[in-house]
Amino acid sequence: METQRKVRRLSRRAPLLNDGFNMLDIQLPDGTVVSHPDDATPLSIANSIGSRLAKAVVAAQVAGKVIDATGLLKPFDNGSPIPLKLLTEKDPEALDVLRHSSAHIMARAVMRLYPEVSLAFGPTISNGFYYDFLMPHKLTEEDFAKIEQEMAAIIAKSEPFEQFSLNRQDAVSLCKDMNQGLKVEHIETGLASHPELGFYRQGEFVDLCRGPHIPDAGRVKAFKIMSVAGSHWKGNMSGPQLQRLYGTAWFDKKDLQNHLDQLEEAKRRDHRVLGKKLGLYQITPDVGQGMCLWMPKGARIRGLLEDFLRREMLKRGYEPVYSPHLGRVELYETSGHFPYYRDSQFPPLFVHDAGALVDAWARRLSEDESFGAQQETMFLQAAEVLGFDSASYSKAEGKQAKLDALNDWQRNHERFLVKPMNCPHHAQIFKAQPRSYRDLPLRLFEFGTVYRYEQTGELNGMLRVRGLTQDDAHIFCTADQVEQEFRNTIELTRFVLESVGLQDYRVQLSLRDPKSDKYVGSEENWQKAEASLRKVLEESGLNFTTAEGEAAFYGPKADFMVRDCIGRHWQLGTVQLDYNLPERFELEYAGGDNKSHRPVMIHRAPFGSMERFVGMLIEHFAGAFPMWLAPEQIRICPLSEKTNDYAVELEKVFTEAGFRVTTDLRGAKVQAKIRDAQLDLIPYMAVIGPKEAETRSIALRDRIAGELGTKPLDEVIGLLTEEVNSRRIRQVADKKFAEPPPATEASSHEY
Ligand SMILES: [Zn+2]
Ligand SMILES: [Zn+2]
Repeated sequence: METQRKVRRLSRRAPLLNDGFNMLDIQLPDGTVVSHPDDATPLSIANSIGSRLAKAVVAAQVAGKVIDATGLLKPFDNGSPIPLKLLTEKDPEALDVLRHSSAHIMARAVMRLYPEVSLAFGPTISNGFYYDFLMPHKLTEEDFAKIEQEMAAIIAKSEPFEQFSLNRQDAVSLCKDMNQGLKVEHIETGLASHPELGFYRQGEFVDLCRGPHIPDAGRVKAFKIMSVAGSHWKGNMSGPQLQRLYGTAWFDKKDLQNHLDQLEEAKRRDHRVLGKKLGLYQITPDVGQGMCLWMPKGARIRGLLEDFLRREMLKRGYEPVYSPHLGRVELYETSGHFPYYRDSQFPPLFVHDAGALVDAWARRLSEDESFGAQQETMFLQAAEVLGFDSASYSKAEGKQAKLDALNDWQRNHERFLVKPMNCPHHAQIFKAQPRSYRDLPLRLFEFGTVYRYEQTGELNGMLRVRGLTQDDAHIFCTADQVEQEFRNTIELTRFVLESVGLQDYRVQLSLRDPKSDKYVGSEENWQKAEASLRKVLEESGLNFTTAEGEAAFYGPKADFMVRDCIGRHWQLGTVQLDYNLPERFELEYAGGDNKSHRPVMIHRAPFGSMERFVGMLIEHFAGAFPMWLAPEQIRICPLSEKTNDYAVELEKVFTEAGFRVTTDLRGAKVQAKIRDAQLDLIPYMAVIGPKEAETRSIALRDRIAGELGTKPLDEVIGLLTEEVNSRRIRQVADKKFAEPPPATEASSHEY
């Protein structure tokens, strides 16, 4: 009670010195400027426009920063007029504010129901939020209904979220009074440099938080607790073990239901389950986590996609190349991929026995000052045993001389990297002979397998792996050819995506931040390239957005964001311009002027990687691949043993016609054979009895449409051939999923 009184006292807002004459100029999104007294809040301004609007306002945005609808606008008064945007349910930023507020409400409910709850952090994530708790009661799914009930009771009271700020001393003392030890620790460590700390109060619940929040709890119209998992304080595995309670919240019950349906549908389509059930791929502990074993049926799908893309690239003037899975470490030093991305790569392979030791010593030496003379002696002794023979390494020398000696030794002894990227290899192929402008554009392609050391926790079936094959290509061209090459790659990517039935996509064009100087390449080239990329996208009629400041330091890029049949977004194909690698590898061609010039490099991959793409397709098709990609297209189901001969003959005919076909010769009833073929998601079944054998016909059954009637063999072959050649896509989803309201990605409202 004492704490409650203290909170109320502290949270009472200091009266403003308002002489009644100071006004704020506020600019609304349509450009109009309005004047309001300087105690104006976004909510009061909304009210002055209309009470309907005031009811709809959830938060506001001033010059890009999201703030409370009930917060004062005065603090932003450093450039008049203040640019204000009122956020309603329709704005994605509002959803984020709603969700973080729901995290507070959930924490409040948990604290009411269970004793000794210490709050950690409660940020939003894509599609929801979580809160981390340190508490003795172990939360299980059985607790969810009770917590939801308590949340509903809190929401029903529609109490406001009230902001207040405290100096460090008062903040610590308040958190101590509330028994919030983790918050105290965070103020003292993570927030050591903050002179003032913000809090939000809602009824008896107070949380250290920088906000913003919805005006009152009544704005939460639909919510649900989703799951509970273990986590650690600040991600530190040796720190206290916390419980992470996940939830989701929406402005509309319909949106919540759509989200839940989508999750249910995604579960049904999980490529990890279907991939195993349909025999497409495996990951075994013996081969290792994150390494895909393509089973014969999965390999067929991948092979078909690769053949398809290979044919298309050959038609478009690409040249196939192959390169090894290893490259010298020096190659990646030149390209810049080593040592900067070392943490996400497999460690180098050392041919010399002492290689790994010398490498480790050099790293210790360059990163860590604190090793002792005794450790150095031990290193040298061990290295000597392993055959390290550097005469230039001297204990008496300084750190840099020692590092030079170790690096020299390393350069004289081979070290290889399992390749993390194909680009350096292709740059070497370009460089392997003199090039003239007549050779350009040179388009080199390879289904190149690369290896990345992803953290175990990040791995996810085929979608996130440690060995992946990119449908990679590098185009070397002149600056003048960039526009045409970009147009071609965009066209190829669209064709490829639409051929597998992905019709719903948009492109994000990532451009420079004009204020930054981190970019390589000439100003002139960047300007020209960005203008032509934009022009190509405008002409293409594609749905595209531009993102300033999102370009890589080496060039602008375009990414394809694809929406699958249940409304989820995937980032697939990418096209990236690169001014950096040609510079680093000193790539040149002789121009028409007989002078030497530097080419531009374009990296592009329509699928991205075969693993991720096939994993995504399994989910998109729910395992039921269209005829042109199905690993097994036709199952022949003879009525009885009497027609087995005709069945075997049919299998041969279909195989010779290029179909992937199997025959079910079991003694089982034909109904059982059909049922199994349906479960195996085979597009067509050829049912045959004595009548069909006699007339050389087939009772054709479509997996989706059912019986198609008895047709002559030739007609069936004609029909199915046409379906394959036209790459027809069959039904992919039973239900149409509404486009979910756009949500911002994970964000933290905590300090
Ligand atoms: Zn908060
Ligand atoms: Zn590349």
